[in-house]
Amino acid sequence: MTKSPQQWIRPEVQAIQAYHVPDPGNLIKLDAMENPYGWPAEMQDVWLESLRQVPLNRYPDPAARALQPLLRAAMDVPEEMGMLLGNGSDEIIQMLALALGGEGRSVMAAEPGFVMYRMIAQFSGMHYCGVPLAEDFSLDTEAMLAAIAEHDPAIIYLAYPNNPTGNLFDEAGMEAIIRTANGLVVVDEAYHAFAGKSFMPRLGEFDNLLVMRTVSKLGLAGLRLGLLAGPMAWLEQIDKVRLPYNINVLTQASAAFALQHMDVFEQQTRSLREERGQLLQDLAAMEGVSPYPSAANFILFRVAPGRANAVFESIRAQGVLIKNMKASEGPLADCLRVTVGTPEQNEAFLSALAQALA
Ligand SMILES: *Cc1c(COP(=O)(O)O)cnc(C)c1O
Repeated sequence: MTKSPQQWIRPEVQAIQAYHVPDPGNLIKLDAMENPYGWPAEMQDVWLESLRQVPLNRYPDPAARALQPLLRAAMDVPEEMGMLLGNGSDEIIQMLALALGGEGRSVMAAEPGFVMYRMIAQFSGMHYCGVPLAEDFSLDTEAMLAAIAEHDPAIIYLAYPNNPTGNLFDEAGMEAIIRTANGLVVVDEAYHAFAGKSFMPRLGEFDNLLVMRTVSKLGLAGLRLGLLAGPMAWLEQIDKVRLPYNINVLTQASAAFALQHMDVFEQQTRSLREERGQLLQDLAAMEGVSPYPSAANFILFRVAPGRANAVFESIRAQGVLIKNMKASEGPLADCLRVTVGTPEQNEAFLSALAQALA
């Protein structure tokens, strides 16, 4: 008998491709929807000083009691709703798979969509059902309702706005999906800070609606902190599969500090929304570039057929890292995605793109 990983690693794990994150080196990093801005020096000093009080020898508070009320206020979680924290929303997606998954259970999402929905469904042994968006990336509500009838999914993810397309789905279509589904519908609002629309105030209106948020795209991607909000009856069950110390002491203390300075993040995200408008306008004015409208802090754009890889490589060679969607066919064929950065970074990207197309 061989003692090989092929013999023991579950076939569904062997079948998936590892999530690849490129090394940015010294490149201008516009590939991962991070906020490019740091904190004012005084704020950084006060934060560092506050960390002196953090007892690294103790386990974290599993209920994150100091952090919860600040997060609740910052994210406008309705008073009567529960809240569950994750090590990034990625971990929440994994908790949902653990709590609702198993033999014969399905996860459904619109495609193209966030890759973690598919990946976590696959490695947790669930069936993944990806329903194509319409050609303009709007929600194909009829197709979603038909897929619900066929698969009766345990979990449906609706990213609002969607990644990588950047658009907000039609609210009435989403409502029809929530009403029709027997299972849980999770509205993923990772880009809420840039969107201006939310299902958070509608929690409680439907038995099966939960809203997921994260502090990552707001400007705290390094902390790894996401949250799931909704009726307590759901959250107290899902909380059973949460590892008790999933939010470490440095994250709890730093997030609590940061959320007391929401004005700083509001100012930063306001500039990024303005920059997004400028970037979209500049991209639209370029010959051979078709950008899609965006309610997030990134823009998806299409280049001439067969040119995406060369354009991506040329931009990288000029010192700017964006995201290559790596699709030779299908809805994302010839598409690249750029995160909105500082005005200087956006200028560097635009001039590299112009050079790549010349
Ligand atoms: C970035 C992103 C997330 C992941 O957020 P983390 O909290 O950093 O894990 C979740 N959903 C969507 C749609 C995203 O684009």
